[in-house]
Amino acid sequence: MCTNSAEFSDPKNNKGYEFDELIERIGQRAEHLLKTKEPINITGGEPTIVPHFVKLLNWLRKNFPRNEIVCVSNGRMFSYEDFAKQVLRVDNLKLEIAFHGHTPRLYDEISGVKGGFPQTLQGIKNILRFRNDSHLIETRTVIIRQNHKRLDDILGFVHENFKGLDTVVLIFHELEGQCGDHLGGVAVSYKDIEKEVVRNIEKWSKKIDDLRLYHFPLCVLPSGLWPHTWRTLPAREVSFPDNCAKCLYRKYCMGVHNEYRRLVGDEEFKPVDSKILLKTSRGQEFIYHPIVAIGDQP
Ligand code: SF4
Repeated sequence: MCTNSAEFSDPKNNKGYEFDELIERIGQRAEHLLKTKEPINITGGEPTIVPHFVKLLNWLRKNFPRNEIVCVSNGRMFSYEDFAKQVLRVDNLKLEIAFHGHTPRLYDEISGVKGGFPQTLQGIKNILRFRNDSHLIETRTVIIRQNHKRLDDILGFVHENFKGLDTVVLIFHELEGQCGDHLGGVAVSYKDIEKEVVRNIEKWSKKIDDLRLYHFPLCVLPSGLWPHTWRTLPAREVSFPDNCAKCLYRKYCMGVHNEYRRLVGDEEFKPVDSKILLKTSRGQEFIYHPIVAIGDQP
């Protein structure tokens, strides 16, 4: 269920949002969640449009007081001030808001609905207005054919209009769902976007404190950008081309999405054999963000 129908979204994700169904599903994992305190992820479709969304958040907060609640949304429902206030009364909440285009035209083209842009814009502004210190707020831009040459404008718009964001994320699209079906119309290769990504991360990371790249194998980027990469795909969805055995940085790399390898191939992925001084993270953080700095970077 979604108020946007982006061509890269997956319509298989549209079932099972009845309150009782959700409670039952979460209940099956209650012991594990309470023990591990791992985050509880609410995704969709668009989760905020189910009528019991606020009720669900309050139920989760009451029953899992130590777990972060992570919600992915297109942000449109937050344009309603009362709704935004009710949601942001729930503490320890992370909101990941999709923001794929910075003009009404680009937004409509990508989201597949007319008129959503002003709502998302107002929604993010309301979130930033009503947030508290226990919240984490981020925007997420999926890079596709329609917006990859507009990254400078998109990041400039985000920087200018959304003061107080914790994180800004650029995500390489996954070749699955409708994105896989629209190969050629929506999809890009890493090579297609390399120059734009490099130029814009170098430029905007000077102004945006936490600017991240998700779903990028290391060798498609210059090493100076590796600290911006996070390992964000589950192990079952990625694999390593044969050549990776010769790569000195395999243990820090996410690998390549299986569908990307099937549909585009392995040619872009070249083992890195030069010695690069890395500052790495430890423990749990190493899993998701192994490289925190390069050489003598602070
Ligand atoms: S060669 Fe393989 S292991 Fe090395 S950076 Fe590229 S994808 Fe990752």
